[in-house]
Amino acid sequence: MTISVVLFTSDLRVHDHPPLRAALEGAHEVVPLFVRDPAVDRAGFAAPNRLAFLADCLTDLDQALKARGGRLVVRTGDTVGEVCAVVRQAQADEVHMAAGHTAFAVSREARLREALEAGGCRLYVHDAVGTAVPPGDVAPQGSDHFAVFTPYFRRWVDQPLRKPFAAPRAVPVPPTVPSEELPARSAVQGVSEGLAAGGESEGRRRLGSWLSRHADRYKERHDDLAGDATSRLSPYLHFGAVSPVEVVQRARARGGAGADAFVRQLCWRDFHHQVLAARPETSVEDYRPRGDRWRRDDDARKDLQAWREGRTGYPIVDAAMRQLAHEGWMHNRGRLIAASFLTKTLYIDWREGARHFLSLLVDGDVVNNQLNWQWVAGTGTDTRPQRVLNPVRQARRYDPEGSYVRRWVPELAGLAAPDVHEPWRLTGPDRAAYDYPEPLVTLTDGLARFRHARGAD
Ligand code: FAD
Repeated sequence: MTISVVLFTSDLRVHDHPPLRAALEGAHEVVPLFVRDPAVDRAGFAAPNRLAFLADCLTDLDQALKARGGRLVVRTGDTVGEVCAVVRQAQADEVHMAAGHTAFAVSREARLREALEAGGCRLYVHDAVGTAVPPGDVAPQGSDHFAVFTPYFRRWVDQPLRKPFAAPRAVPVPPTVPSEELPARSAVQGVSEGLAAGGESEGRRRLGSWLSRHADRYKERHDDLAGDATSRLSPYLHFGAVSPVEVVQRARARGGAGADAFVRQLCWRDFHHQVLAARPETSVEDYRPRGDRWRRDDDARKDLQAWREGRTGYPIVDAAMRQLAHEGWMHNRGRLIAASFLTKTLYIDWREGARHFLSLLVDGDVVNNQLNWQWVAGTGTDTRPQRVLNPVRQARRYDPEGSYVRRWVPELAGLAAPDVHEPWRLTGPDRAAYDYPEPLVTLTDGLARFRHARGAD
């Protein structure tokens, strides 16, 4: 009798799951295993919002496996040690897992392969589980990765993708392998009040309803801050509760300009994965150093704190930061505005911003967070590194009625646009009526400081 272990990492689903499918094809029984590895937490995963969402995903995965006659086995400890222990207990012949592309995932895979092979067990690593197109599958001549998005996208869009695999009908699990209790969302402290529910069932429900009801208008509406018309699938993609291959395929099947624009946006995930796979150090180091001497003095520390708390005096920035605190998620346009404000108007190191985002974002991951931060800071892959987003112009354009600001900054709820975006322009009793901070810096001063520091003037 052949027994396989399927090690789940950031692929917490049963639909379109190549490792689970391959294991079931080759074995009589499988052990679906998830390891709570303290090293993953130490590497930056552990934030209350992500721990809570993870608990939802594991509960949902366990239920999906139970519905197929199986169950999820959860262990806590070093991944390599725990997988080897389960292999021994189950007397398994093979382990299947998804490829990971961060430095952490690559080194974990190498250690696991060595330990398993020493015990006579084979490790199979499956591609295109966490990305639609695996890093390295498309690369320009003479380089290991694309440094600019558009040429990458042109090649990416022509790559053949598999037809998504259906969920297995049965998952027979040997009864002899014990599991710890699953973590519970209710046990996690410090979770954002408005955090979404996690899990594959919820992810698939959202995907279906968003594609049928909103995808067609994505192109026109994806930047509308108040309209909130993006898919909000990022946490489900981050935890692998939905498959990127399946999301792309279903969007393509729907067709139209909205679905095309959405698929192009999904390509950014794969683009960043292939950059980080080739240049793992860019999770902390500048991809393209610009000689920045970021502000680090006491004033900068106070500005950073005000930015974190959503009281910079720029309503659109503050609205975005408060959405992040409340939901553990922020609209992409808000992320761009808040990140540009920190790095280019306040001239504070992108790493400080990235750290704060990672402490709250439910979809926060080193790949997309760090590389988007670098893109905005001009140290990454943006071909216009000196571009600065003016928060007032951005607010007028992407929140023309001021509804997004009023939703998140209740102090300004009585103001209409355009005043709601520039409350400092109010005078006398009108100004006194609003208990809201003055801007930390004028945009002219901020821009001058940035241009001077970058040697652009
Ligand atoms: P949609 O607009 O519906 O897009 C569909 C999917 O495409 C998203 O779910 C996401 O998986 C992918 N996507 C869209 N834009 C990007 C992008 N710029 N880069 C990578 N993938 C993208 N995304 C994360 O998943 N994790 C992060 O930690 C993260 N940090 C960010 C930090 C900054 C400073 C910025 C500017 C962007 C960051 N993003 C991050 C990208 C983007 O903001 C989110 O993916 C998006 O807002 C998620 O909302 P959505 O699912 O409704 O997106």
